[in-house]
Amino acid sequence: MLASALVFTLFGAIIGSFLNVLILRHGVKTILGRSECASCGHELQAIDLVPILSWLILGGRCRYCGSKISAQYPIVEALTAIAFGFVGATPLPLSVQVLALPILALLIMISVYDFFHGIIPDAWSYAFAGFSLVFSLAYLTLIGQLSDFTALFISGPACALPFAALWFVSRGQWMGLGDAKLAWGIGWLLGPLYAFTAIVTAFVLGALISVFVLLPLSSPKFWAFLRHVTPNRSSSLISWGFTMKSEVAFGPFLAVSCAVIWLLLLFGLDPLNLLEAGPFAYLNVGLF
Ligand SMILES: [Zn+2]
Repeated sequence: MLASALVFTLFGAIIGSFLNVLILRHGVKTILGRSECASCGHELQAIDLVPILSWLILGGRCRYCGSKISAQYPIVEALTAIAFGFVGATPLPLSVQVLALPILALLIMISVYDFFHGIIPDAWSYAFAGFSLVFSLAYLTLIGQLSDFTALFISGPACALPFAALWFVSRGQWMGLGDAKLAWGIGWLLGPLYAFTAIVTAFVLGALISVFVLLPLSSPKFWAFLRHVTPNRSSSLISWGFTMKSEVAFGPFLAVSCAVIWLLLLFGLDPLNLLEAGPFAYLNVGLF
């Protein structure tokens, strides 16, 4: 199991670097063609393209012109490596593990793209839904619960419906239609109970992050306070790009809670039982 986790991790790092290309070139240019520095246009050599390591060794700068290279590269590579590594560690047959990989890859692509652009490419959420349905069919067959397939199938549109309603009522202000398409795939991946759990978790995460991270960052009082306590530091914080976006993409929250709950389930752990035990027990009251 450890050897398989290691192989999957290395494979994930390589796929992660390919995902960066897909994310950055989506709608901009073809994915064919050599990689080049976005700043000086110098064609990158194999040694510049080693996942995670090249970026770390070069200190996040281009070898040829010295300009900064986005931290998105190593972050996506590391995320994919870790996610694939977890799949390699699950007690599932190799054929089912392999089916799980495109699903995680798509969730990572969707999160990063939505985070930067506030939109989810249709093709990616359709592919996510398709792979999810295929995976669930294989998984339910494996565990001998194919009788649950009807409920799982209905949970796709059932999860999308409330998001589509929010989109319709708010004319796209509160929620994009992309979130509805993503939720459809989550329904097909997790089935009704756990998809509902993932969506509720995403709303809780989104609310917590908004209140404790983004709200303070958007408030002038917070910056005045920061300037007061750290006279020299705060301006550099602002120049790092910590400015408030007018709206926060919801896709990453959906994708993260879906991926975490799904991986727990693949290890045979029930996230709802985890909630019932220990210090989180009170969260469970009245919800499930
Ligand atoms: Zn360069």
